[in-house]
Amino acid sequence: MSKARVVADGPLGQTVLDLFDDRVEVLPWSVAINGSNETVDGIYTYGHPHLNGEMLDRLPGVKVISNYGVGVDHIHVRDAAARGIPVGNTPGILDGATADMGFTLLLATARRLIEGDRYARSDEFTTYDPGYMLGREVHGSTIGIVGMGRIGEQIAKRASGFDMQVLYHNRHRKPTAEKSLGARYVSFDDLLRASDYVVLTVPLTDETRGLIGANEFAKMKPTSILINIARGPVVDTVALTEALQTRQIYAAGLDVTDPEPLPRNHPLLTMPNLTIAPHLGSATEQTRQKMAEISVENLFRGLRGEALLHQVNI
Ligand code: NAP
Repeated sequence: MSKARVVADGPLGQTVLDLFDDRVEVLPWSVAINGSNETVDGIYTYGHPHLNGEMLDRLPGVKVISNYGVGVDHIHVRDAAARGIPVGNTPGILDGATADMGFTLLLATARRLIEGDRYARSDEFTTYDPGYMLGREVHGSTIGIVGMGRIGEQIAKRASGFDMQVLYHNRHRKPTAEKSLGARYVSFDDLLRASDYVVLTVPLTDETRGLIGANEFAKMKPTSILINIARGPVVDTVALTEALQTRQIYAAGLDVTDPEPLPRNHPLLTMPNLTIAPHLGSATEQTRQKMAEISVENLFRGLRGEALLHQVNI
């Protein structure tokens, strides 16, 4: 059997390469950028490379685009649909891991864990002082989830274990989540005003780009903490920097940034009231294995012209 010719951005993880086995000839991402005279059968996006219609027009044989991950903001899904190319992703299997990471950031930021870790290792730590490094209470506080989807619901579940009052905002109410998780639907403004923790779990779209900017920080409590586990551009980086510098909000925990990574000399990176992770939301051995399996299965199904396990709708 001849190998499928698949363009992928790399370097690809060994799990993915093992699943490709000898069925795929992997072509470099430069082929997606420059086009090819030879047929390309599919596209596999691994680390969020940008992909649009112009690029697809240079690769006319492509039958499927398979994305390793759930967020597809780097892929112009409408352009793909206009060319009859299905886009596959991996929803549902990374919710727990991503919510765990969201809660890790929330706890670490509220309780100043990273600052504490640095201090505990430093020469400055010579004696216990009950007055240092006081953080904010997590249990019994109010959490506001912006985007009560698959990951948002998992955040809400964890929050109820901490006796938190759960508020949420979506474009549409979600009665099932209200019933099963005790979450209360509020307007976006009310969520910003009432929450001790504002947690972002929305997809990055034209509507959510810059969702949290100067106006939103002005509505948040000075004791509040922002957690972004969604995508960097959902938050205006300049406004966030100012809100943290001026203590308009208490702190932020970011798994994602805009740009990503931030320039090494960015002022955010020097701020003690910021906890930051290098986009680790779904980064567990178990979840990444499942993401590899589903995305590779989507790729092969698409190459055979079959329905994908998960196809992104526009
Ligand atoms: P999902 O199940 O589709 O949930 C998204 C939620 O956002 C939905 O409840 C949706 O409700 C809401 N929403 C969409 N647009 C909105 C808007 N303009 N205003 C308010 N709410 C809006 O998606 P998911 O699987 O939970 O994933 C969410 C996102 O998380 C992904 O797109 C990805 O970017 C990100 N993510 C990040 C990591 C990481 O490593 N940090 C890992 C996985 C996923 P309505 O339609 O009712 O508005």
